[in-house]
Amino acid sequence: MPEAKEKRQLSDFIILLLLLAVAISFLAAALFFVVKWNNSSKEISPELNISREIKESDERILRNFTAKSADEINPNFFEVKKILFVGDIMFDRFIRQQAEKKGYKSILEKAAPILSQYDFVIGNLEGPITSNRSVSMGTEIGSKKNFSFTFDPEVAHLLFENNIRTVSLGNNHILNFGQSGLTETEKYLRQNGVEFFGSPSGDKKHELVIGKDCRLALVSFNQLGSDNQEEVLKIIEDAKRPQTLVVVYPHWGIEYQLGDPGEKIKSLARQMINSGADLIVGTHPHVVQISEIIDGKKVYYSLGNFVFDQYFQKETMEGLAIGVEVSAEKCLIRSQSELKVKMNRSGETFFD
Ligand SMILES: [Zn+2]
Repeated sequence: MPEAKEKRQLSDFIILLLLLAVAISFLAAALFFVVKWNNSSKEISPELNISREIKESDERILRNFTAKSADEINPNFFEVKKILFVGDIMFDRFIRQQAEKKGYKSILEKAAPILSQYDFVIGNLEGPITSNRSVSMGTEIGSKKNFSFTFDPEVAHLLFENNIRTVSLGNNHILNFGQSGLTETEKYLRQNGVEFFGSPSGDKKHELVIGKDCRLALVSFNQLGSDNQEEVLKIIEDAKRPQTLVVVYPHWGIEYQLGDPGEKIKSLARQMINSGADLIVGTHPHVVQISEIIDGKKVYYSLGNFVFDQYFQKETMEGLAIGVEVSAEKCLIRSQSELKVKMNRSGETFFD
């Protein structure tokens, strides 16, 4: 029966073909899923994406602040123009003790929601950041070691995290651990993206780009160091150019002197305004002093404390923060607002 044999051979061949087709479809389907799964796992990982976005925005902010020309700046950045000035920041002694116990974050946790509403915050770092052990922690108030400060390296990151992106180093405590302490401070600040000005051996002026055609020049004057009055007036004059706002951030006056800072300081403030200052924001007395308007420009003689452990009087547990709104387009200070700062006996700072 050769015909029947042929038929069986044909049906065997068809079955074989069908089996082959099924096997190929299975392989193709498997390959398709493997490729798809691979791609989707690359694309969708929410946490990874979020952290990448945050990092990119941090880098963008840093780039904008350090940009040397308008071309380097992200145009979207120009909408932001709210700046907050705060007073003296000290992270040793009792503050350090509390931070070591409860975490550094706890010191500014209550203030953080307000700090984050500004594009950046500027304050006076009243001491060096070094890897040295504290010598003032636990010492008696008024003893020599009680006034020698060093802050934990973690402070640099804490400042950045809380939007404090520029600090003044022009004060009477920055050399508490000598020149090497200052060098270490600058290293930690740089590593953490915090800019600085006014150090005894560094730049007295620091310029920030705050708009396409607007710069903010911060000028330091440390009356308690080797800074010279004539020199600072000259720096202000040079800084005052079209499309540049000049904010002088002096460390001056007499500690704990309430109210009026005295004629010497007031006449210097007038000279600073005459030289081109658009705003003066002072620190050092550890208490809030009066403010006044000279030729239409606001002068805050002392903002008092921002982070400090001076619990011996109500006035040293209070401070002032100045919010400045700048029209980046016109490069003008639109308004200044005053925020009340308080420090409690747990080392925490908050806005009242
Ligand atoms: Zn001081």
